[in-house]
Amino acid sequence: MNDDQRSFLVSLVRATGPSGYESGAQEIWRNRVSSVADVHTDSLGSAIASLNPGGSPRVMLEAHIDEIGFQVKYIDDNGFLYFNTIGGFDPATLAGNRVRILGHNGPVNGVIGRKPAHLLAEEDRKANPKIKDMWIDIGARNAEEARNAVSIGDAGGRVHDVTDLLGNFLASNSFDDRVGSYVIAEVLLSIARENPSAAVFAASAVQEEIGLRGAGPAAYSIDAPIGVAVDVTYTSDHPETRKTEVGDIRCGAGPVLTRGAATNPRIFERLVQAAEAAGVPYQVEGNPTGRGTDQYAMYVVRSGMATGLVSIPTRYLHTASEVLSQDDVDAAVALLARFVLDLPEPPDVTP
Ligand SMILES: [Zn+2]
Repeated sequence: MNDDQRSFLVSLVRATGPSGYESGAQEIWRNRVSSVADVHTDSLGSAIASLNPGGSPRVMLEAHIDEIGFQVKYIDDNGFLYFNTIGGFDPATLAGNRVRILGHNGPVNGVIGRKPAHLLAEEDRKANPKIKDMWIDIGARNAEEARNAVSIGDAGGRVHDVTDLLGNFLASNSFDDRVGSYVIAEVLLSIARENPSAAVFAASAVQEEIGLRGAGPAAYSIDAPIGVAVDVTYTSDHPETRKTEVGDIRCGAGPVLTRGAATNPRIFERLVQAAEAAGVPYQVEGNPTGRGTDQYAMYVVRSGMATGLVSIPTRYLHTASEVLSQDDVDAAVALLARFVLDLPEPPDVTP
């Protein structure tokens, strides 16, 4: 990752864009790819970048641009905001988080408040915290001040920025799945320099975190026989996880290729060959049902799409500090660029 690529990744994770409110993050992604591709944004908000659209075979690369977040549902008399969650949270990871709400006059900073441990009753200290006992504090002194900045229905996300850890590791909120959006954009930029024979469509899809909503319509409009989704996956390389339960998946050991019902076996073989040709490591995980990522929404579109899934191994998913290795991100870009450039015409995708 060079400095220019790193600042693109940082700008993506800094952009607040929970499911249904992705337009700011999407603008950053569109600006990155528009130098090499024509970009169209559909009515849901998914952006589709087309490179060499008359080529063959047609191939779709996909990642989701939305992040998990918060929506304002009630403003109390003292100016505190009560919220709905957007996507899946462990309530124990929320108190003290910094957030940004996309308000009508611009972004508004806040923190998630909860009764301090000192004041909790003995039994409440032992119990799991509940989201209904938390609020967002934007510093407003009363309801009127709060309403001048935010409205019911406004939404936001965490803002914990990017921190370098040892060994080329990075920590940030919302690597899920801004890192995937980064990967497909950089693959597009990389293969644009090689004059590919394939028609390549990169889709930055919306609303994955609330039920894989944007990827299916994007896949329908692209109408490609082949597609690869790029997302994050959990690892078994930190305490309190077991290889016997989740398999042996580690940060820094290469992108993860998934096998299972949603993955076409010919596409899986080609992804493995692409990793070997690109000289990058890879890991394999099993997912028998194929559920859980946009790959699931893509492979059953129209008459079916031959899909693969490439994931960045990531620790502490859906917390304010998701941790990944830059090496895995660089390897995923190299792997997918090789995959697209080596696709034969016609591609054999019969399982
Ligand atoms: Zn995701």
